[in-house]
Amino acid sequence: MDPALEALGEFGLIDLIRRRVQHRSSGMVLGIGDDAAVLAPERDGELLVTTDMLLEGVHFQRGWGCPRELGRKALAVNVSDIAAMGGSPQHALLGLAIPTDGPSLAELEAMLDGLEEEAERYGVTLVGGDTCGSQSGLVLAVTLLGRVAGGRALRRSGAKPGDSLWVTGRLGASAAGLLALERGLRPAAGWPADVPRPGWLGAGEEAAIQAAIQAHLTPIPRLQAGQALVGCARAMIDVSDGVASDSRHLAAESEVTVRVLATQIPIHPGALVMARLTGREPLDLALRGGEDYELLFTAAADPRPVLAAAAPDLPVSRIGEVATGPAVPVLVHGDGREEILAGGFNHFRSPGRSVPNVGAGRSGPSFG
Ligand code: ADP
Ligand code: MG
Repeated sequence: MDPALEALGEFGLIDLIRRRVQHRSSGMVLGIGDDAAVLAPERDGELLVTTDMLLEGVHFQRGWGCPRELGRKALAVNVSDIAAMGGSPQHALLGLAIPTDGPSLAELEAMLDGLEEEAERYGVTLVGGDTCGSQSGLVLAVTLLGRVAGGRALRRSGAKPGDSLWVTGRLGASAAGLLALERGLRPAAGWPADVPRPGWLGAGEEAAIQAAIQAHLTPIPRLQAGQALVGCARAMIDVSDGVASDSRHLAAESEVTVRVLATQIPIHPGALVMARLTGREPLDLALRGGEDYELLFTAAADPRPVLAAAAPDLPVSRIGEVATGPAVPVLVHGDGREEILAGGFNHFRSPGRSVPNVGAGRSGPSFG
């Protein structure tokens, strides 16, 4: 253990966290320092509560050396869940398990800086948490509370036959960034000397890989877009496990068939490059890689005017439609072939986040 951290001790570290936290949200009566935080309930609206953890060896490798990004991501993935309900994030709790073999106090401070930076961006106040020693790896477990107008939360269950299916951003970036990190590439660094570089890979391709690495390390939750879609989208989910998995959730909860058009999937340029570099299908990375934290939603009306006003720089693509039929997602290929859209990330079916569960769709049952 870092001697500086050992000297500080658990309560010293909690004190350090407490001193750096800024108060940004309304409704907090008492924050860090007592047995529980005190929050004043608001008169109207509904409370949203979500939690997501990041585990060393499953979601990240400490060897990548990006503690600031890790702190940002721990909050961002939770903001993404609030965004996917159409809400506003307010108060966060941080569960921290720290292994004896690191990180150093300096790395922990960088992590907390990243978390505070992200909290500031989204108007969130850290109001409490828990701090423990860990026997096996670093864990960051954030719980986030937010608000949404009464009865307005966007659920997975609202999709209706006749809706169109939309997704924000470009898919496959996070999976591509992960593949790049696993190959030894690092953010804002040149090409590593020990990694073979193919002749076709120019400056543009390298920039696309760097963008993918950024997307993996610091995903941007689509908060303005999510809030703007209240009253427009009928069902919504954030893409945490891949469109294959997440469209399955929409189909199951809404009891409809979700038809995904393969030719309409917006694939991130970094995913095209990493697919070529590793001999994978770009579409596979885009549909089954996961962790893109884009919004996947259905709507009866065209959502583009609403999104153009709320998030003008965010691309949005119509990638399919909702139909009556079995409650499954169906992938429609350009030649008209249809199959059940299988695969996507599942924690109990693959070796861990560090290996994207791509390719699982090929053995899936055919449809039609
Ligand atoms: P208790 O033993 O009563 O649960 P703790 O010693 O665990 O209290 O925590 C003391 C205070 O510090 C509490 O307000 C708690 O919410 C806060 N706290 C502990 N760990 C963290 C953390 N990692 N991040 C933010 N607040 C924390
Ligand atoms: Mg406690």
